[in-house]
Amino acid sequence: MHQQGQVPLCLWRGARGEVLQTLNPTRILYLCHSIWFALQASNLKRFSTARGIKLIFMAVLHNRVSQVELKKLLYQETEHRTTISFYQYLAIDDPNKFRDDLYINLNTLNVFGRIYVAKEGINAQISVPDSQLDELRTYLYSIPTFDGLRLNIAIDDDGKSFWVLKIKVREKIVADGITDPSFSMERKGNYVNARQMNELLKDEETVVIDMRNHYEYEVGHFTRAIELPSDTFREQLPMAVDMMQDKKDKNIIMYCTGGIRCEKASAYMLHHGFNNVFHLEGGIINYAKQVNEAGIQSKFIGKNFVFDDRLGERITPDIIATCHQCGKPADTHTNCKNDGCHLLFIQCAECAATYDGCCSPECTTVYHLPLEAQKVLRKGIDKGQHIFNKARARVRPPIKNKV
Ligand SMILES: [Zn+2]
Ligand SMILES: [Zn+2]
Repeated sequence: MHQQGQVPLCLWRGARGEVLQTLNPTRILYLCHSIWFALQASNLKRFSTARGIKLIFMAVLHNRVSQVELKKLLYQETEHRTTISFYQYLAIDDPNKFRDDLYINLNTLNVFGRIYVAKEGINAQISVPDSQLDELRTYLYSIPTFDGLRLNIAIDDDGKSFWVLKIKVREKIVADGITDPSFSMERKGNYVNARQMNELLKDEETVVIDMRNHYEYEVGHFTRAIELPSDTFREQLPMAVDMMQDKKDKNIIMYCTGGIRCEKASAYMLHHGFNNVFHLEGGIINYAKQVNEAGIQSKFIGKNFVFDDRLGERITPDIIATCHQCGKPADTHTNCKNDGCHLLFIQCAECAATYDGCCSPECTTVYHLPLEAQKVLRKGIDKGQHIFNKARARVRPPIKNKV
C-alpha cells in the first residue's frame, strides 16, 4: 500500500473506504502546524468532508515518527524559546470556540505547548520564540477575561520542552470530582504572598494544608503543614472539609506547587462554610522566588518536587525524607532503571550504586540482562501498572520489604 521506508501516518479514504492518498511525514509536519492539528486537538479522529471523502487520523501526532521529526525541527531552531506557564479560573461559555481562537492566534506566534481549556478556565504550559514574547503578552492581555493573568517564566529552562501546540477541551482544568452544581469558582479564598504567608504562620493557631500528593510532601513542605493522606485531589477535597470541621473560624492557608489546586481547594472550603481561607499565590514555585528575591526566611523546608528531569528543586538544605531502601536521610526521587518497573522512589547515593539505580535486587538483575531478554520478560505484563503513577508510590508496599 505504501512505499518501503515511507511511513503511512495518515490516509485519505474514499467513501467506500479505499485509500486515495497516503501522506508522508513531511506532509504531516506541514499539516501539524495547520488547521488539521486544531481538528485533531478536539479528539476528532474521523470526519466527513463535503465531497464524501473521509479523513482518518491514525494517531498522527502520537506516532513516534512524527514526534521524532517534530522534535528534530525544534532542535534545528536557532532562536531561543522561553517557557511560560499560566492558569486562570474564569467562566468560558464556549470552550470549543475559545480553543479555536486561541489555537489560531498562538499558532501564528509559533507557540508550542500543552493547554487545557474548560468551562471553568485555562491551564497552559507553553514555549514561545523570544522575538515573539512581547507579541504573546500583548495578545494574552488583550483577552478581556485574562485581566490580571500572571505569566510564570521558567528560569533555567532550555525552552525545548514542547515541539507541537496541543490545545484540548476538557471537562475541568483540574479534575476535582465535584458534582454539586451550586459549587462555583467565583468565590475563592484570599491570595497570600510570601511575606503574608510568613506573617500568618507566626500565629500558632493558623492551619496550613498541603494540597499535593504524598511523594511531594515527603521531600518538602511548610513547617506545621498538614498532609491529606490521599493520592488524588478529588479525594483530598472532601477530606480537608472533614478534617477541619472544628476549625471553621481559624485562618486556613492552602498551598500546592503552582497555585492551581489550592485555589480550587480554597473555593471548596468557602463553599463548605469555612470563613477565613487563604491560598498561596503562584504556589511554592512563586513563594521560593519571592523568598530569594526579598531575602526573607523560607518557612518551606526541603525540596519542591517538580515534574521535570530534576524531579525536585532544593529550597532549603534540610533533608526531611529517607531512602526507601536503607532508611538513611535522602530526598532524591528517581525512577527505577528497569524499564519494566519504572517505580518512582527515593534512593540515596549509596543504594543507587549498590542497586545500579534500581528499586530492588530483582530489578537490578533484570536491568543487567540484554535488552532483548528484558523485552521478553516484559511481554504480557501490563506496563501501566508499573510506570510512574501518582498513586503507585504510596500504595505500593514499602520497598525495603522487597530488598
Ligand atoms: Zn539508601
Ligand atoms: Zn524496580
